[in-house]
Amino acid sequence: MAENTPSRVDMEKIVSLCRRRGIIFPSSEIYGGLSSCWDYGPLGVEIKRNVKEAWWRAMVQERDDVIGVDASILMHPRVWEASGHLEGFSDPLVECKGCHQRWRSDELEGDRCPSCGGELTEPRQFNMMFKTFMGPVEDDASVVYLRPETAQGMFVNFENVLNTTRKRLPFGIAQIGKAFRNEITTGNFIFRSREFELMEMEYFVKPGTDEEWFEYWLEERQNWYINLGIKKEHLRLREHEKEELSHYSRRTVDINYLYPMGWAELEGVANRGDFDLSQHASFSGKEITYFDEGTSEHIVPYVVEPAVGVDRIVLAFLCEAYDEEPDKDDIRVVLRFHPDLAPVKVAVLPLSRREPLVEMAKDIYAGLRKCWSVAYDDAQSVGRRYRRQDETGTPLCVTVDFQSLEDNQVTIRERDSMNQIRVPVSELQNALAAKLAGEDLFVLPPGGQVWLEAEKG
Ligand code: ATP
Repeated sequence: MAENTPSRVDMEKIVSLCRRRGIIFPSSEIYGGLSSCWDYGPLGVEIKRNVKEAWWRAMVQERDDVIGVDASILMHPRVWEASGHLEGFSDPLVECKGCHQRWRSDELEGDRCPSCGGELTEPRQFNMMFKTFMGPVEDDASVVYLRPETAQGMFVNFENVLNTTRKRLPFGIAQIGKAFRNEITTGNFIFRSREFELMEMEYFVKPGTDEEWFEYWLEERQNWYINLGIKKEHLRLREHEKEELSHYSRRTVDINYLYPMGWAELEGVANRGDFDLSQHASFSGKEITYFDEGTSEHIVPYVVEPAVGVDRIVLAFLCEAYDEEPDKDDIRVVLRFHPDLAPVKVAVLPLSRREPLVEMAKDIYAGLRKCWSVAYDDAQSVGRRYRRQDETGTPLCVTVDFQSLEDNQVTIRERDSMNQIRVPVSELQNALAAKLAGEDLFVLPPGGQVWLEAEKG
């Protein structure tokens, strides 16, 4: 929910940069676009992949207690009965166009939002799930739904995962995948769309330890953003009131980010208790429990869930990284992405298109792209090429000049400081790796030299 706060970054500038540089396009644009659906372009797809990889690394790869699954989008329709999604959204609903709270229109007095006084949408018999049909016959028996969350894929696989991995509590199951919600109100670019990608982790714990783990995950998730470059003061927690808790939740805290339109939910951490596992046990008739060897009892674990949309993270990182600074008579636009998130890590720029310079530059390019996503750009002046790379957040440029042919050295130029160092080609890969890993100091390889932007005339 957006609160009014002075805007830090202009959303228009972000949207226009994304359009101009091939980060995000409106879906089906040649047909006029499709409301609230977006396509990621050549650079956008890299940013999105980097976000997912950073999340997976932190949530699964670097941990002993979390494993992943990739469940199908279409699930047995009974799943959505058990989860409460079929019933939960079948009321006539109106939604506030301002704060996005939904209200049952049959319970409302007056025609404004009871919470903020905002304008309301027309009432609709509303289920947020997209419905479709499985198989050749379009009848009630073949109705299936596009999942509105990935979580259920993990709950229904709880026993499968437990039996095949022999994990002991506490442990988590993580998943990244598409989710679909027929949102009543959309907007704010990729913030709220009808098709989006979710990253969810269900952390199963012994009842009684859930509050402790809740605090743990809330802290972990905030640190993840901060480590990737979000300023602490741009994050804020919002505890859900009892009345607004989802049907499955015992406690929910939103991690809000200061987006251009104000504070709004980036991620939610929820204590889902034993709701989902118990419901699936009861609807499927299968026992879904965990045998606690300590007490020799079968228990139903509680679940703590950090859940976040990839697209909301991409938007947050874009806003956080966007910067403009005076540059002689012009303005330098820079996306100050953390290197892990930058769509291109290194750009190789030959000073001219003449041989044998090009051959040397292409050799370097061919070597580096085995390690990272690397661009090769030889169009226009080097100054303009630097600006182009700055605008899409490339942390490092490697310039190959005529001197390089003589001394076998090249220049590395940093996006943020614009400082440059000159290193032997044989040391280039190590120097780039050190810089991308966040090495602040200019640790020069033998034969290298440095000059600082600030000291230039
Ligand atoms: P909101 O109230 O902002 O629509 P929500 O509370 O319904 O979000 P959850 O059900 O908690 O969202 O979903 C978990 C996460 O999924 C959210 O924190 C958000 O990052 C993301 N998300 C939810 N709905 C959308 C959407 N329509 N488009 C993009 N991301 C979404």
